[in-house]
Amino acid sequence: MTPSETTVFISGATGFIAKHIIDQLLSKGYTVVGTVRSIDKGEKLLKQFNANGKLSYEVVSSLDKPGTFDDALIKHPEVTIFLHTASPVTFSSEDPVRDVFIPAVEGTRNAMNSIRKHAPQITNVVMTSSVAAVINTYNIEVPGFQYNENCWNPILAKDAAKSAAWAYKASKVHAELLARNFVEEEKPNFKLTTICPSLVFGPQLFDDDVIETMNFSAEVINTLLKLKKDDELPIKYSSYIDVRDTARAHIAGFENEKCQGARLILSEDKFETNEIMKLIHDNYPQFNDKLPKPRDIDHEKLKAIPTLINVTSKELLGFEFTKLDKIVFDTVDQFIRCKC
Ligand code: NAP
Repeated sequence: MTPSETTVFISGATGFIAKHIIDQLLSKGYTVVGTVRSIDKGEKLLKQFNANGKLSYEVVSSLDKPGTFDDALIKHPEVTIFLHTASPVTFSSEDPVRDVFIPAVEGTRNAMNSIRKHAPQITNVVMTSSVAAVINTYNIEVPGFQYNENCWNPILAKDAAKSAAWAYKASKVHAELLARNFVEEEKPNFKLTTICPSLVFGPQLFDDDVIETMNFSAEVINTLLKLKKDDELPIKYSSYIDVRDTARAHIAGFENEKCQGARLILSEDKFETNEIMKLIHDNYPQFNDKLPKPRDIDHEKLKAIPTLINVTSKELLGFEFTKLDKIVFDTVDQFIRCKC
């Protein structure tokens, strides 16, 4: 079937990554049905995309209610692809098991069960997991570990109660494992691809989504841009991937035969916040007097953080990932457009 004859269902359509996926799907000619948590959010989405009937929404207000996706899938028998991106992405909660772990894991269980019961015509499911499902949380402080597509975070479900950060990491690996086990045991009609992005950077798809506080990964660069000259620069080390590459990988996850069924790690390289600040200072002189100066990067520390070996994923995907400088420039340009 060609894209113009294909309807793609996407959960969590209001998300930072999901909007880029929808944008790329629409440009390729797909029809898209997105789930949102309220009518207001759905109407805003339709206005933002202005997609001439190629985008519609269904309200799925809670991920963890059994059967939560049933009505939406029954209403759309034309759907053949399901992209599951919805999941709580928060690092502060008084009850992280209730707010983070349960919606992520039960949301995935509910998606799988609804597809089995009501949408056997679905041929491909692509699920957004995370490198949090790959990197061993218990070894995070131990220098020098390397990870690839065969690595699974052994974090226990009970550790989700420790904090929202632990709950997030546990939620990603337990949701992904649940989906993989479902496929193994139930042998459904669809192939499951899981996408494990590192920290997702890049511009918001729409300028009107540039607000004071954005989703947690976009906030890394946004926070730097909001600093005052004498503020301490918050030091963060991790691996990064561009949001547009992340969206493209979700589409390759069902379009590209080599990616169907695969577990794909998305990571271009490691970064440190001083490197981002240096890129800003060197290329945007208007910030020189406003933002703190970058310090030298601690290369030893950067080397010691978990290393993602994703050559297999890169080979399967077959496209180059965007480098940090372009991501930072596109993000800062949008910030200037919207805030300055
Ligand atoms: P986001 O902008 O916060 O989007 C999350 C989406 O999930 C939103 O549509 C949100 O709906 C929905 N959602 C969250 N909690 C929900 C709940 N309890 N019930 C129903 N819907 C809920 O985050 P994102 O960065 O685009 O993340 C999308 C996916 O990528 C997630 O699965 C996340 O774990 C994964 N991921 C993200 C990163 C990253 O660096 N950003 C890295 C690795 C993996 P509302 O808009 O209504 O809140």
